[in-house]
Amino acid sequence: MAPRFQAPRGTRDLLPEELGRWQWAETQARGVLERYGYGEIRTPLFEDFELFARTSGESSDVVQKEMYRFKDLGDRDLALRPEFTAGVMRAFIERGLGGRKRIHRLWSGGPVFRYGRPQKGRYRQFSQVNCELVGSPAPGADVEMITLFVDLYEAWGFRDLTVVLNSVGQPASRRAYGDQLRAWLAPVHGRLSADSQQRLVVNPLRVLDTKDEGDLALFRELGEVPRMLDAIDEADRAHWEAVLAGLESVGVAYEVDHGLVRGLDYYTRTAFEVHDRSLGAQSALGGGGRYDGLIAELGGPPTPGVGFAIGLDRAMLVLEERGAAAPAPPAGIYLAAMEATHAMALALARELRRNLSVELDVEARGFSAQMKAAGKSGARLLVILGEEEWKRGEVAVKDLASGTQETLARAGLAEALGARLAQAPPPVRGGAKETEKP
Ligand code: AMP
Repeated sequence: MAPRFQAPRGTRDLLPEELGRWQWAETQARGVLERYGYGEIRTPLFEDFELFARTSGESSDVVQKEMYRFKDLGDRDLALRPEFTAGVMRAFIERGLGGRKRIHRLWSGGPVFRYGRPQKGRYRQFSQVNCELVGSPAPGADVEMITLFVDLYEAWGFRDLTVVLNSVGQPASRRAYGDQLRAWLAPVHGRLSADSQQRLVVNPLRVLDTKDEGDLALFRELGEVPRMLDAIDEADRAHWEAVLAGLESVGVAYEVDHGLVRGLDYYTRTAFEVHDRSLGAQSALGGGGRYDGLIAELGGPPTPGVGFAIGLDRAMLVLEERGAAAPAPPAGIYLAAMEATHAMALALARELRRNLSVELDVEARGFSAQMKAAGKSGARLLVILGEEEWKRGEVAVKDLASGTQETLARAGLAEALGARLAQAPPPVRGGAKETEKP
């Protein structure tokens, strides 16, 4: 029978054994972000609904269909964050960061929420690592962002990633390009999906985002899609070319994707994504772009910016499917006690746990139950508090990897155990049962 309470549709629990890989990935990411000079910013999980509506664009899927919008008891119109940038920019303006220094490098991580149709790699609560470089319009900022983007994946063991890239121009060139798209689609307008017809009215570029098979067939029928890159102005083109040249000098592989428009409306100039085919329909691992008009749009001082979001769930899924080993937890100690030494074992465990990982039997069961538990625990060292040894100020220590035993003094025990755990396990002696790995 199904349990009475289940995780809400589109959400899931991550258990300790699964979280090993997540925590490792988060640590790796923090290292890269620190070395690039990015500071962490934490903003609320929910904000005014209006902030997201303004930022993402009224016509975006996120606002139209995917927002966890709710009224609180004070009748405030709020929403769970569907992405990080809006909240980070709200904080940037509200806290006056722009007045403190010119360029800000900020990152955030944590859950985001979108009411989509759940499937492999698509959840209603998922996690992102998000980065923003605020304050510079220079192509060098885009290059740093895309390089950081790729280096984060590389730190997780991804190789040979190809970034796909496009320029989505400026509001004026986008409007002109939108008109071109409308004209191009005019002959088949009546046969387009309802979604695409609506997008053609509010935000024609997003038509290129369609997943509808019928629409895609119509595009093929019409031949070559007009290109945004042919519609952008000279300044945008110079920016675009400088970004490509920069990526070449740092050795980041890219491909131009004329159909890349990104789901959110706030992008200007550079837009980029990275995909992994093994994910099937939900192949986007992450994406980002420049958003030069966003801060002004939200009522702040005109300030350019560029950023990206990486989806952690999908990255972890790919690593798991490729069989990338989850990092082993640190080798630890199992502390076994006799009836007479159980109280001492509790105190010793507390002392050792200041630096070392220690497990002991909280139920004070018999010795053989403790030996079994030690075998299952995955501990590297078994420390036995025998009554007589303890009186002499000693404990017995067995290396469960090699089977070797020794007696160590109670004084300085933490240091002695720490030193043994830091060493690679000694070679296993052949044959003997006690040398088997637990
Ligand atoms: P976006 O801002 O939509 O480009 O999202 C950035 C990244 O977040 C995507 O490339 C995905 O890896 C991830 N992502 C977006 N939506 C979902 C979702 N519903 N479930 C899991 N990951 C997602």
